[in-house]
Amino acid sequence: MAENLSFFEKVNKNFDKAAQFTEYPQGLLDQIKICNNSCHFTFPIKRDDGTIQTIHGWRAEHSHHKLPTKGGIRYSTLVNEDEIVALAALMTYKCALVDVPFGGAKGGIQLNRNEYSESELERITRRYTYELIQKNYIGPGVDVPAPDFGTGENEMAWILDTYLTMSQDKLDAIACVTGKPIDQNGIHGRKEATGRGVVFGLEEVCSYEDDMKQIGLHPGLRGKTVVLQGFGKVGYPAAKYLTEAEAIVIGIAESDGAIYNPKGIDIEKVSTFRAETGSIRHCSDATFIENPNDVLELECDILIPAALENQLTAENAPRIKAHIIAEAANGPTTTKADEILQKRGALIIPDTFLNAGGVTVSYFEWLRNLSHVGFGRLARRYEETAYNAMLLFIEQATGYQFSDDERGPLHGADETDLVNSGLQDTMVNAYQEIREIRLKHGKDVVDSRTAAFISAIHKIAQSYMQLGIFP
Ligand code: GLU
Repeated sequence: MAENLSFFEKVNKNFDKAAQFTEYPQGLLDQIKICNNSCHFTFPIKRDDGTIQTIHGWRAEHSHHKLPTKGGIRYSTLVNEDEIVALAALMTYKCALVDVPFGGAKGGIQLNRNEYSESELERITRRYTYELIQKNYIGPGVDVPAPDFGTGENEMAWILDTYLTMSQDKLDAIACVTGKPIDQNGIHGRKEATGRGVVFGLEEVCSYEDDMKQIGLHPGLRGKTVVLQGFGKVGYPAAKYLTEAEAIVIGIAESDGAIYNPKGIDIEKVSTFRAETGSIRHCSDATFIENPNDVLELECDILIPAALENQLTAENAPRIKAHIIAEAANGPTTTKADEILQKRGALIIPDTFLNAGGVTVSYFEWLRNLSHVGFGRLARRYEETAYNAMLLFIEQATGYQFSDDERGPLHGADETDLVNSGLQDTMVNAYQEIREIRLKHGKDVVDSRTAAFISAIHKIAQSYMQLGIFP
């Protein structure tokens, strides 16, 4: 039964479903689907207490149709070869869909980061990077890691430092990894990018009156009730921007418990509480629910799994009531759950589209690193001067005086403005492509996930043809 498939087999099942709507030779489809390279690294580290432990890590480069390959590095006990290969494949399709010119990759180390000290994590990360360098699995034009589940700016800074130390070509070496701290050649907006992309994506999805009517909702995010699974690097910013868009976050689930408030949860309060206590358990203003899975089954408009894969399964899907399932995590819905939810009429917004914000802004960071100049540096003051001259001209011609509020937004675009504008444009265009493919084949025939795969297959196939590898 489909539920017993491995993660990579599930990704391939979605691929095969979409491939039926294309006319490429089977050999080309097989080449797109297969994982080009994967490597299992094992190495010893000395723990703080003096014991020696063997660490298991992987890196998979799923597709070299474009270089470099790109994808995060995760630290989790669930990491294994199948998971890393499946996630690398999802990166290939995600990058293709949103026109980020990279092949897909993913790496991971099998550990629970809470069981390691900061200095142990640093030793592990540096040693893993050394292994990547030795096996040619990292480099600005080769393979570029980024944060993923269980990793963040610190790990990226250690990767950069290790790579810089070992690298011969210092000029572009800073582009060997993305998601770096701002003062270590990172880019403004990368940290929040996946969450922001989720909200830009949802705004676009919910803007179509016909589509919303079909699932019994009004257009727009305003007033929509939301339940989130995961309040980390993706979930927290998503909750923040959803609240700014006047959606109402009524439930948040974390691995150690959940909170619920039908009137809306104060996101900043929960974030501060979690920073102080290390958990969202018993945060005031909301009812505490011991079993986090119960919250996923609440009546709500949008359910956002923003944690790990295989969270919506054949077991819980029949009880999930959300009208929209917004896949902020990679692979959160199993094949069987997908069937059950779709049959009930839910709209599933696929991960390959919805969580592409992270890699999109990683692309901007990589471009910034290779160009060695921050976005907005050349044009910002020029634009500002031009705006002011225009306002002055209008004031003189009409006698109208602009207030400070009216003048406020008219500053020259800085890096954050440009990153967010590029991200929004990417999410809007990608969803329009998905929607057009669905309309072409019939909305009842092709769901959003299949449409996203069809779009990705077309783009990857075109690349292979341009390379002259296939007729
Ligand atoms: N880990 C993120 C993802 O799964 C970002 C990858 C990247 O920025 O390269 O999309």
